[in-house]
Amino acid sequence: MFVQNKKIQDILNYYREISYLQKINSVLDYDLNVSMPPKGSESRASHAAYIEELIVNKWKNPKFKEMIEDVQTLELNEFEKAIVRNIERQGKMYWRVPEQIIINLKKETSIAFVKWSEAKSKSDFSIFSDSLERIINLLIEIADHIGYKANRYDALLDQYEPDLNFEMFNNIAQKLRTFLSDFVSEIVNSKNYSDVNSGFDTEVYYDFQDQKRLSEFVAYKLGYDFESGRLDVSAHPFTSNLHRTDVRITTRYDLRDFRESLTSTIHEVGHALYEQGINPEFDDTPLEGGVSLGIHESQSRFYENQIGRSKFFIKYIRYLLNLLFNNVRNQSDEQLYRFFNQVRPSFIRTEADEVTYNLHIILRFEIEELLINKKIKVKDLPEIWNDKMHGLLGIRPKNDREGVLQDVHWSYGYIGYFPTYSLGNLYSAQIANKMKKELDIEYLISRGEFIEILNWLRKNIHIHGSLYYPNELIDRVTGEDLNPDYFIKYIQEKYSDIYQI
Ligand code: MG
Repeated sequence: MFVQNKKIQDILNYYREISYLQKINSVLDYDLNVSMPPKGSESRASHAAYIEELIVNKWKNPKFKEMIEDVQTLELNEFEKAIVRNIERQGKMYWRVPEQIIINLKKETSIAFVKWSEAKSKSDFSIFSDSLERIINLLIEIADHIGYKANRYDALLDQYEPDLNFEMFNNIAQKLRTFLSDFVSEIVNSKNYSDVNSGFDTEVYYDFQDQKRLSEFVAYKLGYDFESGRLDVSAHPFTSNLHRTDVRITTRYDLRDFRESLTSTIHEVGHALYEQGINPEFDDTPLEGGVSLGIHESQSRFYENQIGRSKFFIKYIRYLLNLLFNNVRNQSDEQLYRFFNQVRPSFIRTEADEVTYNLHIILRFEIEELLINKKIKVKDLPEIWNDKMHGLLGIRPKNDREGVLQDVHWSYGYIGYFPTYSLGNLYSAQIANKMKKELDIEYLISRGEFIEILNWLRKNIHIHGSLYYPNELIDRVTGEDLNPDYFIKYIQEKYSDIYQI
């Protein structure tokens, strides 16, 4: 057993109940998103809130904090240290922030979600504005209670990505911004632009059952264990980790575009493979689960982009695409590859391509930092958003729906979350670069031999769960700290080729 110390064993026994309660809540949440009938929502909210209350009480029990304080001076092994570190990090929210503030945030966010939905459907930011302002004020209080060294925003970033801070991400963002803005305008002005971006016939329908078969086949081939998971449908695709042996994914089907379900499925498979591959000894302990949102997203982006949007993968699945979809047959491999990799400045983040995607994140990151440090006012957000969008992508949203209201995150109180999406892209390119030195991944992909790739990720990343923090993990895997140059090089090479720049 990886834990020897008796006191740590006691901590694990206590923590196991928290872990069980979280998993029970995940089942309720999965059901809510996938199969609950609409009228069930009110009663479900009270069930979930009750479980949540039990979790909070478990955390706030003074006995638990004493148990952690009691092991501070002991000699601990690597696993035991990581257990204590992970609990202390999660505990910050419960131990440092007064309970009333957490309760107020919970109340405020449940109202905010309804307000946001209404505002979005009417494309009117003013409906959501007051609610968002109260959320920002509560998050400012929370950040001040949690504490930070240089920037208030650091306290919030750290909740999603351990040890990430404003300065670190800002350096990355500025570097990406310079490269990407120039590169996007090169693409838009390239001779090949309209040629690459002209799509297939949109009058064609891609049968739901055929798309489903394709998704299931690809998930299975990539190594997703259907005995420990299932594939369902939801409005926004997601992965739900109910336990290492029950990791469920969802996708969505667009009858006019088969790329949507295929790439969404591959993305979620990437998340799920991570969870399915964690050391079973870590089950129900603070070492279970992926270590951070950024590392998690690196696995999904690796599968979605480095594999799913590669020439070799398109080549590999085209016999199946030919079989399922009539109008794919008369396209060349090259045309099909370009079809999966069109670059186009657009308003909606979730529909953005690999090149423009990080610019959407930079926009949100800059706005969040200004909000949390009270440098801008909530009511001015639509204008600020549109100006920044124009500066980054050269386009200006016509209304709030395609601008400031498009994402749900702020209504949940998730400020500091967006940067982890970019980190995922950067980590994935850095990891792919390292993997290519040890495996001929292009050959493996074109042959459909994905298991060797999965085994490499298992051994280097998945197995460790939350044992190492992201910076330590990336250093162990690649021999250096996070380095955005790998992503820049990857984008430059791939898209210079496609657009003949
Ligand atoms: Mg994801």
